Amino acid sequence: MLVLTRSSIQGSQISPSQLSDPNLGSVQGMPAAGAGASRTAVRPQTGGLFRGGLFGSCANPACRSGWVQLWRSRSRPIFEGGWSCSQACSAARLHAAVRRELDGRTGVRDAHRHRIPLGLVMLEQGWITQAQLRRALDAQRAAGTGRLGQWLVRQRAVSEVRVTRALALQWSCPVLLLDYHDASAMAAVMPRLFVDAFGALPLRLSGDRLLYMGFEQGPDPVLALAVEQMLGLRVECGIVPESDFAPGQARMLDVGFPPVELVEAVSERAATHAFVRALERARPVASRLVRVHDCLWLRMWLLPQSGPLPETTSVRDLVCSVGAFS
Ligand SMILES: [Zn+2]
Repeated sequence: MLVLTRSSIQGSQISPSQLSDPNLGSVQGMPAAGAGASRTAVRPQTGGLFRGGLFGSCANPACRSGWVQLWRSRSRPIFEGGWSCSQACSAARLHAAVRRELDGRTGVRDAHRHRIPLGLVMLEQGWITQAQLRRALDAQRAAGTGRLGQWLVRQRAVSEVRVTRALALQWSCPVLLLDYHDASAMAAVMPRLFVDAFGALPLRLSGDRLLYMGFEQGPDPVLALAVEQMLGLRVECGIVPESDFAPGQARMLDVGFPPVELVEAVSERAATHAFVRALERARPVASRLVRVHDCLWLRMWLLPQSGPLPETTSVRDLVCSVGAFS
């Protein structure tokens, strides 16, 4: 077998037509993941999601093998724009990514924590009176359940439309409607678990870069950032009217999502091991790791993608709960 080291390929010119490995051909046609690359400046990344060329050497900075991808029998997996020459190098890179994501666990939500209470927003707008607010708060306290907006609607102090608008004002985000919601097309945006557990509804794509995501009570900036980084799209969060949200979510949970493996890891090491195993088994043409609250989410693209939204059938997810060692 011909072995070519990094130093020996330096300066030589090899045209793509000279490539003989059929496995490499498919990677070449991959859309440039420019979208991903530009948005991922938020956190340190090793490069764009998809690889641009075929002449890369192993992306593990500590690798000493000197393998150049072109001459290695394995052309995949590709993780965060870089190829790993061996399982050991995949493990090193995934461990670094797990560390990076766990280190970045503080803060995104903190910036959004201090909000004017919903009752005050409606009072300021002149939509309710002091007496109505007091009555609703008393009822909420006595019942020990229900949201303030629900009590105000129940007591006929305000309409649901006004509650939705007040939530949008409170969070400085738009009201989003469920018209034209294509649940099946949106299923590949994120694992079903996130739609269920975090109450997020991917709604629609505007142009090929802007994704609208609906929430019932308030945006989830951690999840929105994770989706932006994972898909290379800009995510605009908004409030969906309460009476539309539950049926919309139920409809969404009923469609087909990409296959997902759920892992509960007891340590950072165990999490890394699960990711390496999945990556080496699937050998994806692209993959990325992001954190969503107490989960680490590895997404793997098995085939080059043709559009801005992932294709449900060629995407695999692994979601690993890291709550136990946080
Ligand atoms: Zn290596």
